[in-house]
Amino acid sequence: MSGRQDLLRTLPAIDRILREESMQDLAQQLPQDILSQAVQELIASLRQEILNTGESIPPERLHPSSLAAVAAAHCRKFLQPSLRKVINATGTLLHTNLGRAPLSLQSIEAINDVAVGYSNLEFELDSGKRGERFSHVESLLQQLTGAEAALVVNNNSGAVLLALAALGKGREAIVSRGELVEIGGAFRIPEVMEAGGVILREVGSSNRTHLRDYQQAITAETAILLKVHTSNYRIVGFTKEVTARELLPVAREHDLILMEDLGSGLLLDLSGYGLEREPTVPEVVKAGVDVITFSGDKLLGGPQAGLIVGRADLIKKIRKHPLARALRIDKLTLAALESTLRLYLQPEQALRELPVLKMFSADPEEQKQRCQRLYERLKAESLAAEIALIEDVSRVGGGAMPLTELTDWAVEINPSGKRTAELAKRLRAFTPAVVVRVQNDRLLVNLRAVFAEEEAVLTQILITILKKEG
Ligand SMILES: *Cc1c(COP(=O)(O)O)cnc(C)c1O
Repeated sequence: MSGRQDLLRTLPAIDRILREESMQDLAQQLPQDILSQAVQELIASLRQEILNTGESIPPERLHPSSLAAVAAAHCRKFLQPSLRKVINATGTLLHTNLGRAPLSLQSIEAINDVAVGYSNLEFELDSGKRGERFSHVESLLQQLTGAEAALVVNNNSGAVLLALAALGKGREAIVSRGELVEIGGAFRIPEVMEAGGVILREVGSSNRTHLRDYQQAITAETAILLKVHTSNYRIVGFTKEVTARELLPVAREHDLILMEDLGSGLLLDLSGYGLEREPTVPEVVKAGVDVITFSGDKLLGGPQAGLIVGRADLIKKIRKHPLARALRIDKLTLAALESTLRLYLQPEQALRELPVLKMFSADPEEQKQRCQRLYERLKAESLAAEIALIEDVSRVGGGAMPLTELTDWAVEINPSGKRTAELAKRLRAFTPAVVVRVQNDRLLVNLRAVFAEEEAVLTQILITILKKEG
């Protein structure tokens, strides 16, 4: 026992570590208690290590300056933003974990205008009276989708929840078993319905649902026929789906609400750019669907938001529901959404100015040239890796169009000594962080989601981490 006590006495005093230069430097920027706490925790962990092992800690680890360096590195995390810029070299354009759609310059300006001061968020400048925040985008959405009315909330999950709660609470909604989608996280259609107080009536089977399945399930309790776009998976083979257009006469006959969760919400047909043909929002409105929900930050290329368009009487009901207040969109997002939607008034402008649409429509030949440039820059250095220019594909991401593969190119890096995972980690630790794809123990650098102005810094970071030692 006394051996351990002796070992514990080898730990330096907390004050001694706090007096070290690296900690003193930080004292200008951080309060004393953060610094003290970091040192106390470090010493406590060393105490525990001694008590657990009964062995001494090597003197070089116990030196006050080394301990101060460890504690200082821990404290510096408080000074560095946790949420920060990433260069997305994965080739997945709407990467959900990397923030989905980058915003247009127009949106950045709009956010800035609203963020630095006050705005007419809920104020009618004409009359001087109280206004409604969604009024800023309603006429744009009417114009762009052809819908009678519109409402926007925090995200599409919220939009679905709100619409179901407002239109079907205590009653039934009929959904095909092939459309009981899980989007990721906790968003599963059956659970969202339960949260909204709507009773789920599943019909059909996973692969086949017929019109008669819907018809036979209708009772006096039915309020909604719900279609859900299977954004992130496809059922192929022996399948049958009933389209919203086919459901419409049934909904009308029984006085039911026909609702469709479109997920992505295309305002333009992008199938000319190699993307799957999906019905656009205006087409679904035109088909007569009563309520349509979609995301702001998927194929629309705007900020995170949930858009609801449809029949004026139903939108009015949705607006009045208490959840509408709980799920309301914030002013910065609203500014970004309004400016995004305005770009769509002229489709060629949306294609030119919205980063994701530009990435979708990027010319593969141009992508090849960009990769070729990076390849040649890397080849010109003496690097501890084999470099190759390879054919690759880009993906839409964001749980949209899972089958779409856009023809593309990538620079493949095969580091010597099986260091792929370690190098990927070092890339992520850079400022800006770099995220690449790891495939077959190689790093793949795909440039489709890398902005032109990021290319030089990306090249430099790659050279730095791949440089031969010595
Ligand atoms: C993505 C998606 C959602 C969720 O939208 P968020 O904006 O991410 O909340 C809901 N339904 C479908 C069909 C989707 O594709």
